[in-house]
Amino acid sequence: MENAYNRRQRRNDPKLKLWSSVGIMLTYRCPAACACCYVFSAPDINCPGGEMTPEMAWDCWKATRELNGQNGSVHLTGGEPFLRFELLRDLLQKAHDSGIGGLEKIETNAAWCVNDQITTERISELANLGLTKLQISTDIYHQQFVPTENLQRAIRIATEILGPECLQVRWRDFANDPVHSELFSESELDEAFTLALAKIPERMVGRAAVRLSHLVKQQPYASFQGINCRQSHMAAKGVHIDGFGNVFSSTCIGIITGKVDNDNSLKDIWLNYDFTQHPIWSVLTEGGPWLLAENAREQGFVPAENYAGKCHLCYSVRKWLFSNGLFPDYLGPAVCYGQ
Ligand code: SF4
Ligand code: SF4
Repeated sequence: MENAYNRRQRRNDPKLKLWSSVGIMLTYRCPAACACCYVFSAPDINCPGGEMTPEMAWDCWKATRELNGQNGSVHLTGGEPFLRFELLRDLLQKAHDSGIGGLEKIETNAAWCVNDQITTERISELANLGLTKLQISTDIYHQQFVPTENLQRAIRIATEILGPECLQVRWRDFANDPVHSELFSESELDEAFTLALAKIPERMVGRAAVRLSHLVKQQPYASFQGINCRQSHMAAKGVHIDGFGNVFSSTCIGIITGKVDNDNSLKDIWLNYDFTQHPIWSVLTEGGPWLLAENAREQGFVPAENYAGKCHLCYSVRKWLFSNGLFPDYLGPAVCYGQ
């Protein structure tokens, strides 16, 4: 099955990879507000259109399988997907009844695991409907908001019900020896985040750009010239879809690659997608975020002297463009840009 870009290529030219791994973002809301978040998820965000409807979630799941057959996988994510527990349960019920298959995992921060009863009930219910993997996120950023007790309860009960092979803890070494960052002062947090970033770099987009980028080595603006995202964009087999229907390539959340709605399924979008015709991706795949910034300069953007990496530069330019009402069909939604 060839898409619009691939059809124009010669036989041995690199092709756009099929979108085989689809993250369905059930909500942007989250009980946490992690410093590393790629968007600005938080308990108090006002983003009603970001709540995915059951119909859209199921359509995205079906389209993933139609596009990829047995190779198509979905993961259910957020924000925090357990804030939409009824939707999780209904989706798994539908998948179970229809035999559609393809569920890779559900991601969670375990904040909802406030006692043994609710944790056992929810995991058992999902396990009976075919949950094969639960991914629990844990690190210095998450534990600033999620009680360690809830995390450890989730790991213990999920291990009992699902078995250790069906539980993915990111990161296990942190969970085994957690740091109680919920009580840290701002300066203690900065120190702990700096150490964490030295071990595991974070993509500096969304809240991470605002909260973490100053804690890592900076590189001059000019050094990003010539670094583009063509290869990674073409090779990205993963997309995320939010409740507005926005399709994002990989974890480049905030760049609207396409939009699913009643008339366009994910399959339609992939078939018709040609990044050379997309006003943002055409620039990023050609000259990278540096070129996006140079183009924005003509409209008034003033680059900083240094950035923490190419994604930090990319996010900074996109935020400026978004804030100035430019490319409204291709940049958004507001929650990705802290608005
Ligand atoms: S990183 Fe995940 S858990 Fe943390 S605020 Fe963002 S969505 Fe919530
Ligand atoms: S620079 Fe921008 S487009 Fe490239 S990987 Fe980073 S966020 Fe995505």
